[in-house]
Amino acid sequence: MTILFISDLHLEAGKPEIGEQFLDFLAGEALEARELYILGDLFEAWLGDDDPNPYYADMKAALRNVVEADIAVKFMHGNRDFMIGQEFAAETGVMLLPDPLVVDLFGRRVLLSHGDALCTDDVHYQQVRAMTRNPEWQAMMMQKTIEERIAFAIEARQQSMARSETVSDEIMDVNQGAVEAVMREHDVDTMLHGHTHRPAVHEFELDGSPATRIVLGDWYEQGSVVRWDEQGPRLESMPRQDSPSEI
Ligand code: MN
Repeated sequence: MTILFISDLHLEAGKPEIGEQFLDFLAGEALEARELYILGDLFEAWLGDDDPNPYYADMKAALRNVVEADIAVKFMHGNRDFMIGQEFAAETGVMLLPDPLVVDLFGRRVLLSHGDALCTDDVHYQQVRAMTRNPEWQAMMMQKTIEERIAFAIEARQQSMARSETVSDEIMDVNQGAVEAVMREHDVDTMLHGHTHRPAVHEFELDGSPATRIVLGDWYEQGSVVRWDEQGPRLESMPRQDSPSEI
């Protein structure tokens, strides 16, 4: 049976076509799988499990449905939804994973990560990341009202967008040295992550042996999935069934 991996859907109410494809995926292929891993940035923003946004309620119910069909659904935080917490886990039945994590996939040790921690050339981003992943910072945020947190997120997003226009593409990508260091540390020859929105299978040499880094794509224009079974991994895109009709 297949193990499925997705990431970087960036679900938000303003882009309903992404959510519809995700709901179709959960009600279809996911129910035939053994496990579903979501490697971060499922949501465009997550400001706390207490957010009453009804759009999130639909997504949580759909995840619960998969879990209740006895398919293990596992979630690793992205840089957009790192505030997903225990309440979300309890509501959906989704298991929260640490980043990075080594898993055994049909006898092959594979390192899973969202991928943002690998972008070490972006020093400013890594400082923001360290601050926002601090439990004390998160507790401080949760003291604020949801309206205050939404205002904070809008401002942070605007700053991030303004900044991304001034930072080169290379700096926004993973650092190969950071990739090799984390793979060495965890003694793996295969890694799977998202975050960069650059779907690809990179083959390279790590300490004289062949190594592989698989990168999931985002869901902005189409779905992206890794289907992993006894034959190994397949990185594939999923065209939108109901793409907007031509005028
Ligand atoms: Mn990301």
